[in-house]
Amino acid sequence: MTEQHPSRQGNPPDFVTEPSTAPIYQTTAFDVPDLKVLADIYSGNVTGHVYTRDSNPNHAALSESIAQMEGAEAGCVFSSGMGAIAASLMHLAGSGDHIIVAKSLYGITLKLIGRLHQKFGVHVSYVDAADPESIRGALQANTKLCLVETISNPLLEVTDIRMVADTLGEVPLVVDSTFTTPELIRPIEHGATIVVHSASKYLNGHGDVMLGVAAGTVRRMKSVRSMASAFGQNGNPFESWLTQRGLKTLPLRMKQICHTTTRLADFLQGHAGTRQVFHPSLPEHGTHQLATTLYPNGTGGIISFRLVADGKEGVSRFMRAAENIPFSPTLADPRTTLSHPATTSHAFMSRQDRAAIGITDELVRLSVGLESFDVLRDELDEALSKT
Ligand SMILES: *Cc1c(COP(=O)(O)O)cnc(C)c1O
Repeated sequence: MTEQHPSRQGNPPDFVTEPSTAPIYQTTAFDVPDLKVLADIYSGNVTGHVYTRDSNPNHAALSESIAQMEGAEAGCVFSSGMGAIAASLMHLAGSGDHIIVAKSLYGITLKLIGRLHQKFGVHVSYVDAADPESIRGALQANTKLCLVETISNPLLEVTDIRMVADTLGEVPLVVDSTFTTPELIRPIEHGATIVVHSASKYLNGHGDVMLGVAAGTVRRMKSVRSMASAFGQNGNPFESWLTQRGLKTLPLRMKQICHTTTRLADFLQGHAGTRQVFHPSLPEHGTHQLATTLYPNGTGGIISFRLVADGKEGVSRFMRAAENIPFSPTLADPRTTLSHPATTSHAFMSRQDRAAIGITDELVRLSVGLESFDVLRDELDEALSKT
C-alpha cells in the first residue's frame, strides 16, 4: 500500500517495532476493504473483525487465553459473569425444555433461573448436587442441561464434577468455576461441557472490571457468541484488555491466596470468637476428603464463619471493629473483604429458608486478598476480641 486510505488518516504511521503489550482496540467497527473480504470474515476463511458487538481483537485474545487455560477448544467474552451464564443457558435450553440446577447457586444465578422459568417457560428442577440420586431422579427426556458451581457459596461445599457428569450421561453440564479458576481446577477435564466464570472476580483480580467468560467446543462457543451478540451481552475491549493483564498474575495470586486462606481458616477455627468455620481445607469440613483429591493446589480464598456474638448486632460490631477489612458485597478483590450472606446474596430468601440451608444471621463471609497472613490474623484477632 503506497497511499493511506482516507479512513486510516489519524492512525499512527507503521512502526518497525511491535508493542510489547497488545493495544486496546477501542473501536465500534472495523473498515472492510471489499465484499469478498467481508464474506471471508463471516465464513471464517480469514481472521478479521467487523463489529465489536460480534468480535474484537481484545475479545479474541482473552477468549484464546481462557480456552488455553481451561483446556477447551474455544472461549467467549461477555459483559459480566451473568452474561456468560445467561448466554450459555440460552444456547442449550429454550421454551418447554427442562433444566437441572444445584440448589445452592449464586443468588443472582437463581434469580436468572427463576426468570427463565417465568418468562420463557423453561422447566427447572433444583437438586442437591452432592447426591447422585437427587440428580438421577430429576432427569427427564427433555433435560437440556445441568448447572453447578465448583464450590458452593457461602458454605464452600466442593462439587464432585465427575460424579455429576457421569450421572448426567449425555446431558450437557455447565460449571461455574468463578470461585476456583483454572489455576485450581479445569472442569472440562472432569466432564463439564461448558465452563463459565465471572471474570469480575479472580480472573481479573483487581476489583475494577465487570466481565464474564465461557469456554467449550468451537461449535458451542460460536452459538453462545451469536446468542450474546443478539442479546447484547458482549464484553467491551478495555475490560477484556484489563482482564488479559490480570491473567498474567493469576498463578501468583491464587497461590498466595490459597496459602493465606488455609492458614486463616485454621486460625479462625481455633479462635474463641468463632463458633463454626467453613473452608474445605479444614478436616472437619463436610467435603474435605473430596477437596484433597480434586484440589491439590488449594480450594481458594473464601472462608465463612459463625460468630459467637449473637445476630446482626454482633455482625455489625465485628464489621466496625475490623476497621481495615472493608464490608463489600463482592469477592476476589485484592483487599480482603467481608460480606454478610443473610442480608446480601441470600436476602431474597425468608429467614426460615436461609436457616434451613445453614445461612444464619451470625454467618460472615471473608474473601481473602493479597495481604500477608500476619496482618490479617492480627486484624481478625483484634476484631473478634472486641465483638
Ligand atoms: C459474581 C458471581 C457471578 C456473577 O458474576 P458478575 O460478573 O457479577 O455478573 C456468578 N457466579 C458466581 C459464583 C459469582 O461469584
